[in-house]
Amino acid sequence: MTLPAPPRPSTAGYLAVLATLLVLAAAAGSAGCLSGGTEDRAPPHERTAVVTVLPQAEVVREIAGGEWTVLTVVPPGVEPHTYEPTASQVSAVSRADAYFRLGPGLMPFEDALLERVTAQAPGIVVIDMSGGVSLLHGDSGGDGGGDREGVGVDPHIWLSPENLRTMAENVARGLSEIDPANAGAYSARKNAYIAKIDACTDAIRNNLTGLEGRAFLVFHPALGYFARDFGLVQVAVEEEGREPGPAGLSRLVTYARDHGISVIFVEPQFSTRESEVIAREINGTVATIDPLAPDVLENLVRISGAIAGSYRAE
Ligand SMILES: [Zn+2]
Repeated sequence: MTLPAPPRPSTAGYLAVLATLLVLAAAAGSAGCLSGGTEDRAPPHERTAVVTVLPQAEVVREIAGGEWTVLTVVPPGVEPHTYEPTASQVSAVSRADAYFRLGPGLMPFEDALLERVTAQAPGIVVIDMSGGVSLLHGDSGGDGGGDREGVGVDPHIWLSPENLRTMAENVARGLSEIDPANAGAYSARKNAYIAKIDACTDAIRNNLTGLEGRAFLVFHPALGYFARDFGLVQVAVEEEGREPGPAGLSRLVTYARDHGISVIFVEPQFSTRESEVIAREINGTVATIDPLAPDVLENLVRISGAIAGSYRAE
């Protein structure tokens, strides 16, 4: 059932409408100047939210809607674990309405940045996107990893459909506290986003059918939560941000050979030199996955396809 198309306006009619709009716009503009800067004629309040890394921005943007501008602190292509914000970023963040943080203790610079920002702008609302997420500690690297004493929290919470559901709830709740008048809209958009998460989860499960318990090899351990969600084992070259020595490398090579691993996944933010050495040793290949891709849901589907493909290539 389709609606009949409305009659097309003539070009002359279109131009007349446009001219009227321009006159109205000019009138509104001058009225604004004459009224001494009162806010009566201002458009709906534009709000600004800040996030730490790009994948968080998708979650906030989908739920916040068009009246919010979402800024990301870590620029595209930059490694976040060792990032240092510039002074101008600190003041830009201080002017925002809300900061949707990854969570305390996840990225060291985020804790430091928020300390400076809340000192400059005590009114900024800080929302913890990791609230309620069951956090993993260390490299979560299965039996290929080393000892797990004194290891930190795995910050890569966004690479998990399960965590994204919790993060979406946190975002909707935070937005509704800041802007209660639009709570219904935030809740509706959150539900729509969770429906997308569910659809992507189905696609990922489909890609990973029959691969439960299998191990995959990555350079930087960004996929601990992903592995937990889907019953896989992540084995990482890097351990607690450090590259392995010769003994560690040879342990990894043995592990990979024993587990039929022939692909090593590398992230574009890191050097591939050691990964190439390992790939040669196991007679395998290096493939790229990007933990910081801005389209976080689609990226999870791509990652599941890459992992599944790495076994089919055996
Ligand atoms: Zn990382």
